[in-house]
Amino acid sequence: MDDRQTKTGRAISRRQMLSTAVGVAGTLAALGLSAGAANAQVTKKATHKDAGYRDSPNGAARCSTCRQFRPPSSCITVESPISADGWCRLFAKAS
Ligand code: SF4
Repeated sequence: MDDRQTKTGRAISRRQMLSTAVGVAGTLAALGLSAGAANAQVTKKATHKDAGYRDSPNGAARCSTCRQFRPPSSCITVESPISADGWCRLFAKAS
């Protein structure tokens, strides 16, 4: 049998499921995205190790003066948590 029952008891055929999948792919294409590109937009943050993060400042350079810092303990490029007094190789001085 090709039909599958939903929670509401409505049968969905393989043709309907395939049609829905094609519709989603078409919508992504219309937006200029592929399924891979859509997934890639979920940005993965750098690990502490990869960024060379440490909980102490590097001279005057510290997370609280970096443009990527998001108080109280987050960063847009490095995984949380971080310290306002920390530092990593991705430091970018806030203007
Ligand atoms: S990029 Fe590095 S220095 Fe800047 S806020 Fe994030 S962890 Fe801190």
